[in-house]
Amino acid sequence: PLVLGIETSCDETGVGIVRGHTLLADAVASSVDEHARFGGVVPEVASRAHLEAMVPTIERACDTAGVKLSDIDAVAVTSGPGLAGALLVGVGAAKALAWGLGKPIYGVNHLAAHVAVDQLEHGALPEPCLAMLVSGGHSSLLKVEDVTVGVDPLGATIDDAAGEAFDKVARLLGLPFPGGPHIDRSAASGNSVAIDFPRGLTSRRDLERHRFDFSFSGLKTAVARWVEAQQRAGATIDVPDVAASFQEAVCDVLTRKAIDAAVTHGIDDILIGGGVAANSRLRAMAVERAEAKGIRVRVPRPGLCTDNGAMVAALGAELVARGRTPSALDLPADSSQPITTVVA
Ligand code: ATP
Ligand code: MG
Ligand code: FE
Repeated sequence: PLVLGIETSCDETGVGIVRGHTLLADAVASSVDEHARFGGVVPEVASRAHLEAMVPTIERACDTAGVKLSDIDAVAVTSGPGLAGALLVGVGAAKALAWGLGKPIYGVNHLAAHVAVDQLEHGALPEPCLAMLVSGGHSSLLKVEDVTVGVDPLGATIDDAAGEAFDKVARLLGLPFPGGPHIDRSAASGNSVAIDFPRGLTSRRDLERHRFDFSFSGLKTAVARWVEAQQRAGATIDVPDVAASFQEAVCDVLTRKAIDAAVTHGIDDILIGGGVAANSRLRAMAVERAEAKGIRVRVPRPGLCTDNGAMVAALGAELVARGRTPSALDLPADSSQPITTVVA
């Protein structure tokens, strides 16, 4: 089936077009530059930017794919979770398209779409698989038996998301927003064992209650304290060393817990998604540690890890292929759509 997917849950207006597992177009317009001076995404600014970018981005996707809107078999859209006003723009546009074309609409879960996108790069999803979703808003370990039916949450962050930690630490170090890519780049020339930052929820006592959960706010505070102490002492701060040591702490905990979850649940495939999956150290460490346990790791290329429309189209195509029931045309945007609800 030829499926058009729309993503507007945060600050990216994404429109993707896929045919089955084949990616035909992935048009993304980001308002990230408009948020940079605020140091974080401003919901009202994001909503307005989606409104302005929606139609041109749909047109760009159709041009790239070489298809007409009338060729589309189904429309998929992120119905949640995300920013309410931002989601409404995408859901409204998708309803108009589906109604105008007389085609079914699928309101899909943003997190399930982050999992499904990998099939555009590596073919049919391994199911069951252990999905680790790490982004600016989420850090979760999920057991995925059938991505079109639901996912089983095994654990999640109890405070900051991994991407949020990257963004906050980058800010402390004077790096621009969003900080993840800047830390990644800076860390490449730093020493990852220069500073021993804490690994959250890994003590024996914490593991009893939070075996597959994450905590990154203590790490962020530890970095802040370290930077303050250096400044007080009049010492210069070696940004690459701090970036590398911080990044090492995040990646160590993420990969350790993901592999523990996979081994515990007898799963042979780990799939990593979300913006932080673009991190070069995370990718390398996950592959190295998983291989040692006979576990395969799949990570989509960085452009498919951050928010985009192709991931929504990919999940939509899978829903059509597996004969799942579409959403009603009056489907709501649900800013807190639970991860267990794949189709709204
Ligand atoms: P949601 O959490 O709802 O999916 P989001 O916009 O935060 O929304 P993404 O676009 O998937 O999600 O991810 C953005 C996050 O990924 C930001 O926090 C950014 O810093 C982080 N990120 C992007 N590239 C890298 C990288 N190379 N290393 C570490 N973090 C990165
Ligand atoms: Mg984003
Ligand atoms: Fe996302």
